[in-house]
Amino acid sequence: MSATVSDLLLDWYDSHARALPWRAPPGASPTDAYRVWLSEVMLQQTTVAAVKPYFTKFTEIWPDVQALAAAPEDEVMAAWAGLGYYSRARNLVKAARAVAEMGGFPETEAELRKLPGLGEYTAAAVAAIAFGQRAVVVDANVERVVARLFAIEQPLPGARKAIREKADAITPDKRAGDFAQAMMDLGSSICTARDAKCLLCPLASKCEGRASGDPLRLPVKAKKKAKPQRSGTAFWIERDGAVWLIKRPGKGMLAGMRALPDDGWSARKDGDGEAPVEGAWKAAGVVRHGFTHADLELGVAVYAGDSKPQGTGEWWPLDRLDDAGLPTLFAKAARLVLAAR
Ligand code: SF4
Repeated sequence: MSATVSDLLLDWYDSHARALPWRAPPGASPTDAYRVWLSEVMLQQTTVAAVKPYFTKFTEIWPDVQALAAAPEDEVMAAWAGLGYYSRARNLVKAARAVAEMGGFPETEAELRKLPGLGEYTAAAVAAIAFGQRAVVVDANVERVVARLFAIEQPLPGARKAIREKADAITPDKRAGDFAQAMMDLGSSICTARDAKCLLCPLASKCEGRASGDPLRLPVKAKKKAKPQRSGTAFWIERDGAVWLIKRPGKGMLAGMRALPDDGWSARKDGDGEAPVEGAWKAAGVVRHGFTHADLELGVAVYAGDSKPQGTGEWWPLDRLDDAGLPTLFAKAARLVLAAR
């Protein structure tokens, strides 16, 4: 009987698995569900290299789900600062509290799906990797490998159903967690978005994309619409070695995060004009930042007057600015002002 895709892939994984802080070696008992879940939430839309230091920091401060459940949300948000997609951090706290109340993580994909922030992918990954359940785990890496392996010509996102069915067909009953991680590793090292190292690939003999002579054209992607452009202004108000920081509203972009005050760009509708910055304000420059739904150009204005800032906020010492947990956008704005000195 010839080897199946999963046989070939698991053999390769046994000798090529990446060593990652949240991962058990191939064939070993799974790592605890808290570490698997935490890493999978952090890895959504984020690279392994960016996640590693955050994973280490989180597991040092909050070594288990009970510790994270007991943490104030503000502290978790501050520790998450810089990793982006902040709704993940808010859901992380909610899910940790739900799990602590239940006395531990549920083990099935269906039950995991009920936790805040656990979508189809994360629930399947935790069920497979932490609990050894057979679950079909499809992230962007797996999507690419499967589209190439079966030469799926339909463009994404329409092809997702067909890709899922094929992924289901090759997922083994045993070692489903190792299989999922092996697919992720293959997609991040051999069958990457820019390259297909078919000569090194354990699945080469089975691959229809390779047989077609041009696997890199797969997966076919529907043309993306250009992102809307936004602009706004953030304000730097400084006194006695401290800068004025506010807490953003509980809803909307960067909700609940500490930030520089701004002109309300995030709530402005497309086409609404921006108020000109005049009077005691001096322009320090512009920072650019890409959000999922829009690209932002944020002018930074430094206050040169001496009246008190309006609204609620706090004077944050400049020598502890790194501890403020500013999201990347405002950390960039702060760097711009401080670098100009
Ligand atoms: S043979 Fe090439 S295209 Fe096919 S899965 Fe392997 S690396 Fe990707």
